[in-house]
Formats: sequence, C-alpha cells, structure tokens
Amino acid sequence: MSNIRLRFPPSPTGRIHIGNMRTALFNWLWARKNNGKLILRIEDTDRERSTEEFEKIILQEMKWLGLDVDEGVNVGGDYGPYRQSERLDIYRRYVDKLLQENKAYYCYCTPEELDQMREEARDKGGAPRYNGRCRHLTPEEVEKFKAEGRKPVIRFKVPLPEEARDIVVKDRIRGEVVFNTSVLDDFVIFKSDGMPTYNFAVVIDDALMKITDVIRGEDHLSNTPKQLLIYEALGFKPPRFAHLPLILDENRAKLKKRSDDDAAYIGEYREKGYLPEALFNFLALLGWSPKNEQEIMSREELIKAFELDEVNKSAAIFDIDKLNWLNGKYIREADLKRIVDLSIPFLKKAGFLEDEPTGEKYEWLMRVIEVARTGVDYLAQIPKEVELFFTELEFEDKEKAVKEFKEEGVELVFTVLKEELEALEEFNPGTINKIFNKLKKKLPVGAKTIYHPVRLALTGMNSGPEIKNVIYILGIEEVKKRLDNALKLAAE
Ligand code: GLU
Repeated sequence: MSNIRLRFPPSPTGRIHIGNMRTALFNWLWARKNNGKLILRIEDTDRERSTEEFEKIILQEMKWLGLDVDEGVNVGGDYGPYRQSERLDIYRRYVDKLLQENKAYYCYCTPEELDQMREEARDKGGAPRYNGRCRHLTPEEVEKFKAEGRKPVIRFKVPLPEEARDIVVKDRIRGEVVFNTSVLDDFVIFKSDGMPTYNFAVVIDDALMKITDVIRGEDHLSNTPKQLLIYEALGFKPPRFAHLPLILDENRAKLKKRSDDDAAYIGEYREKGYLPEALFNFLALLGWSPKNEQEIMSREELIKAFELDEVNKSAAIFDIDKLNWLNGKYIREADLKRIVDLSIPFLKKAGFLEDEPTGEKYEWLMRVIEVARTGVDYLAQIPKEVELFFTELEFEDKEKAVKEFKEEGVELVFTVLKEELEALEEFNPGTINKIFNKLKKKLPVGAKTIYHPVRLALTGMNSGPEIKNVIYILGIEEVKKRLDNALKLAAE
C-alpha cells in the first residue's frame, strides 16, 4: 500500500450523475493504479436537499459499476465518521479556533441587507460582494442583533484589498492557476443553521482524513483558492489538486444534473440495459485516452494505462453514439446466458414473458437472444428486436406482400423449402443455410425470388434478422404454418 489517499465525496442531493461518476471512476483508477486508498465520504450538510435515498442510490450505482472503496460510509475505517452530518462537533472545534484567532467572525446581516450590499457594489461597477460590515461589530451591536433574534453566519476573513495577494493552485491537469484574493469576499464558512459550508467542511475532512490528492470536477476550481486560505489559516498541509475537464453534451452545453431531462443520470443507463463494463470503459475515456488510442479496454487495462497527468484540459464530449457502439460490442461479446438473464425483465415488461422461463423455453430464449443481440445497442431494445418471435405475424404492407406471393416461382420455392426442412436431420442455422444454397442451385428462379418472399411470409417485414436465424427460432412447424398462410393469401 502506498500512502496515496483519494476521496470521492458526493452530495446526496440528487440521483448520481454521469459527471460525478466519472470523477469517482478517475479517483478509483488512480487509487488502484497506485495501490492507494479510496475513501467514500458523504457530504450531506445541505440538510434540505440531502436524502438517505439518494445516498443509497450512490452506493448502489458505484457497486454496479464495480467501484469499491477502502474506507467510507459503507465500509468504515480509521478516519470516520464518513458522513458530514455526523462530524458537526469536529467542524465546530475548528471554526471556534478560527474565531478565537480572529480569522473568522460572526455576521448578522439579513438577506435583505446582503441584497442591498450587493446592489450597491454592482452600482459602483464592481462584482456583487460582501463588504466586511460585521468584521468590527461592537459588543452592543451584537447584543442588539441577538435581541432581534438574528441568527448569525460565520465568515472567513479574506485578506483586505490593501493586503491582496495571489493564491496559486498547482493543478496536475491545468498547471498553475493563479487567483488574486481581491476577487474573493469574506465567504461564509458556517451557516445560520449551524452547518458548515462545503468549502469549510471539505478542508477539515480532507485534512483530517489525510487525503493526498483531490481529483474532482473543474467546476470546483474556483473554490480551491478559498479552500487554500482555510488550509493556511488552520496550518494544514494542502493536498495536490487535479481538476477534471467538464463533460459537455453533443451541442457543447453542460450536461446538467438537475434538468428535467434525466439522461445524465447513471441509473438511467442501468435501467436501459447498458452493461456496467461498457459504461465503465466509456466513462474512463471521458477526458482521457490511452496513448495507443485503444477504445475497448478492460478494467485491468485501464488501471494499467491510466495517467492523471495525461487527462485533457479541454472539455470532454459525451458522445452517445460512441457509448452505444461500445455497449453493443460488449453485449455481443458477453456470456450469452448473462445477456439472456438481463433481457428477461425487459421481455416481461413488454408483455412477451409471464413467468421465469425454464427448460426448453429457456433454451429457445437463448436462441432468440443470440440472434437479437447482434442488432441492439442496449437491452431495452431487445423486445422490439424479438417482437416477431413473440407475436402473431403482422404484415408491414399486406397488399404488397400478397402481390409478391403471387409472383411466379414463389409457390415452388415455398413448397420445396418446406420439404427440405422436413427432411433435415439436424436443425440449426448452419443446416438451414445449406438448404438455401441448394434452392439457389436447384430451382429455376433467381435469389431474389427465394429470400425476399420467404422473409415476408415469415416476418411480414422487408428486413430483419438473417433468415436462417428466423427459421431456426420460429421452428419448423411455425415456419410451415406461415409459408402456407402466404400461399393461401396468394390464392385468394
Ligand atoms: N460534495 C462536493 C460535490 O459533490 C464535493 C466536491 C469536492 O470533490 O471537493 O460536488
């Protein structure tokens, strides 16, 4: 074990998002590569929006993707508790220290006063900011505010304008990013409900949990100078930072976490029948790629190849076509039985299956899925792909079909095909294919008169799975029935 300690600290305020999971995954890869430790901390100081249910979803989706952790809410460890709402006394200790050392102060301003302050700053042409008004309250003023029932927040003292200085974030991905303290105002570190803010709690936790490297989304880069000021004020050694590029959608818009369109949630991909190993592979390539440009990579290959310093600075584009392509490939290469079992809930939902299939029915289902999986990107597409094997025959265009069945040679093709199928000793796609080769050679008709009418008669459609597979799945009796039905239509 190296001394590398990484953390993934999601807030359980919504269903876990693609962006968050990519952060978790990069932390996981870096931890595993370096024989380090990954810590799962739950940042639930937003009491209104945090729920146990969302925390459960985070754990469930991480497990599904195979992102195990070494310490955290679910597994324990020496640096707990790992849920921020259970660490309030710890934060209190440190904020008291800052108050005592005159590095922080109580602020009693009301929301209305703050609004006014911001407006005034804006009127003067500056950025809306807190003006430091409560830095120097007299004991009388404090008493008066208390008597009014005002609940204070605690603010951190940022260097005054005349003492402004640069804070340098040394980022492994972005290089040195310089912020001047003049762009910051005295930010809140404790809220009036007695909860620490994110910027405060995250520093205390990362320091006490001995985190060596913080790998997180670029949206937190602007928080980093504030956090560095707190590290400094408390005499903690800051970790190394690496801010991962944003993930944008195909239109280069931000993939949003709280939009109505929930296509950005991990659970949605699971529910649609994406395989965890495909999503894992895909997420690893969001913002990073191996030098040899390989796309399909196992977990082991990813651990070996992943390099934090090689992560891109520019935004990663979430390319759904690429995810679909990857997932389709994984579906085709996976163990067939696993894909069958994963497909069963989708078939049930579509009304194609009632009970858990067993015995012959299961064997038959294996054949169906073996064929169907060649044409899908994700498993929710399976029912549509296999519909024709579960429903009565329906013609896409009956009139056109009947016209085709009436054409010369079609009756002969159907009759000989039936005879040949009857005579088969072994019934499988290989032997069925041989029949077609024989028909092509033996019968005085073109290939067009063989394949297309048969497909129409058996599936009602112009295209679909290979005909040898269709016959194999339908079985001889059903095939005979459908061919006869077509001939009957032609004779009407
Ligand atoms: N709870 C924060 C979030 O989910 C963590 C940010 C960080 O990694 O510092 O965005």
